[in-house]
Amino acid sequence: MAKNNGLKCSICGKEAVRYIPYANIALCRDHYVEWFEKRFFKHVDSFRIFEGSKRVAVAVSGGKDSVSLLHLTKMASEKYGFEVLGITIDLGIDRGTAYSKKSVEVALSNYKKLGVDYVIIPLKEKHGFSIDDSKRYVNRPVCSTCGLVKRYLLNEVAEEHGADTLATGHNLDDMAQYVLSAYVHGNLEYVLRNGPVIPARPGYPVKKVKPLFLTPEEEILHYALIKGFDFIYDPCPYSSEFNRVSKEKLGLIIKKIEKEYPGFTLGLVQTFEKEVKPKMHYTKETQEITKCKICGRPTTPGRDICSFCAVKMKIYESLHRSDGLKKAHNG
Ligand code: SF4
Ligand code: ZN
Ligand code: ZN
Repeated sequence: MAKNNGLKCSICGKEAVRYIPYANIALCRDHYVEWFEKRFFKHVDSFRIFEGSKRVAVAVSGGKDSVSLLHLTKMASEKYGFEVLGITIDLGIDRGTAYSKKSVEVALSNYKKLGVDYVIIPLKEKHGFSIDDSKRYVNRPVCSTCGLVKRYLLNEVAEEHGADTLATGHNLDDMAQYVLSAYVHGNLEYVLRNGPVIPARPGYPVKKVKPLFLTPEEEILHYALIKGFDFIYDPCPYSSEFNRVSKEKLGLIIKKIEKEYPGFTLGLVQTFEKEVKPKMHYTKETQEITKCKICGRPTTPGRDICSFCAVKMKIYESLHRSDGLKKAHNG
């Protein structure tokens, strides 16, 4: 990961732990951390990420991105004077790896270390199903169900706990995949709605922010390792299914181009945000809000039931049917 090759730090001359090709600098351990954190604050300021925020909820899955984001947001809270609330969803992913159990343990250890407020949402206890159940009973890719469950619960819980901002750990690689995928599939509306800051709007009172959206994934990993953060290194047992999604394949292609042309990924996302986006007009902001007949939360206009409740109903029906079948079999 670190590409030092005997290089010396461009700032102090000590042994470098990382060479940053697109910036043409080599950095030692201390200067890498300093450079990384300075860039974080530069992005936070220039994209007005926490402007007006009083209580920032951070979605923490226990991976390097969200754990680093939690620590950096805590630093930002001391500079800008807002409160921090960690939110972790126990998704009920096991598959012999105890993934969710570890994810909750890691999140807890970071919350306690930083002394921040937190809330853990047990999906199975609160809503009667886990992501493992959805894999068995819902006819859609498990990561797609997981994504909608996370979006629904994070919004709901952030609102319930008085947060005005919800921060997620999307990194530069994620954003580059979104942007390129939007061009390829002609779905620019999606990226127009999913920039580094999505302001609060009718039906969605919590502003969404992605403070790491211009930070490469590998650099976040290196930062988390140097800082000695407690995070889950192993991927989710369903991540190989995630890799089958075309967006992820684009991610591999982007990585290959980045190797040949350092700075390509940053240019792709930065140019989109700074040059392309301001020249485009997104007209759907004034859409009417339709409320889900079951939970009362916003749903897509024209649909009575939100996707979360639809998935929940589908799993309930299947679980009860399979319970009945088991009873009939045993009896
Ligand atoms: Fe959820 Fe898929 Fe990510 Fe696992 S890999 S946490 S199932 S979105
Ligand atoms: Zn140095
Ligand atoms: Zn609903």
